[in-house]
Amino acid sequence: MLSLKCPGCGANIELDESRDFGFCSYCGYKMMLKDVVEVRHREASSTDRYSDGMTEMTKIMDYFGQISDKYQKREELKKQYAELQKKGYKALTGWGIVITVIGLLSISSGAFGVVLLIVGCLFLAGGYSQGEKSKKEMEAIKPQITQLENEIIKHYEDYGVCPLGIEYTQPAVLSILSNYIRQGRAYNVKEAINLLEDENYKNEMRQIAINTQKAAEEQARAARDMAISSSYNGLFNSRK
Ligand SMILES: [Zn+2]
Repeated sequence: MLSLKCPGCGANIELDESRDFGFCSYCGYKMMLKDVVEVRHREASSTDRYSDGMTEMTKIMDYFGQISDKYQKREELKKQYAELQKKGYKALTGWGIVITVIGLLSISSGAFGVVLLIVGCLFLAGGYSQGEKSKKEMEAIKPQITQLENEIIKHYEDYGVCPLGIEYTQPAVLSILSNYIRQGRAYNVKEAINLLEDENYKNEMRQIAINTQKAAEEQARAARDMAISSSYNGLFNSRK
């Protein structure tokens, strides 16, 4: 006898294995024995595949989790570097140029032009010294990032044959991948990566769609404003 859950009513039933088909004794649902066996087989193999994928994923997470502080530090430094790169000295330099040019143009008008010229040069000097300071800080950060990157690469290579590229070994990415497997959306690490790529692509497309819609709304608003203002003008002119 083969015990199983009836697909029709969910009751626990038993089927005679020597026959080709059987009926549920509660709801009368007819089941072909070969289908039942096939479903059983598929369920068993998917459980195996799932636990294989989870084992692989856990191993990877444990291994790269050992250096999670390095990943974190690297991200922090990269952020600092990017901030220094676009820091305010550019604004100072920009204003310095504008004020200096105006000063030069109005120098013939006397004291006012001279004052502008001096202020402009002060801005330029301030921008320059801030720029130098940022540059020094950036130069100090750069080797630290390189050092961390080399350590991460070393750790990655020591793993041996890794089913995922080094760009996926960050803890945040690994936890997304492992969730895919846990949720049964992927059976192994490779499938989880494919799913992540798909999702990223979809998100990008969604973002493009959102931006397009925003632009369209912006245009519609501008057109409406223009229509309102021209109808106001029409009203105003007709009253004249
Ligand atoms: Zn039934």
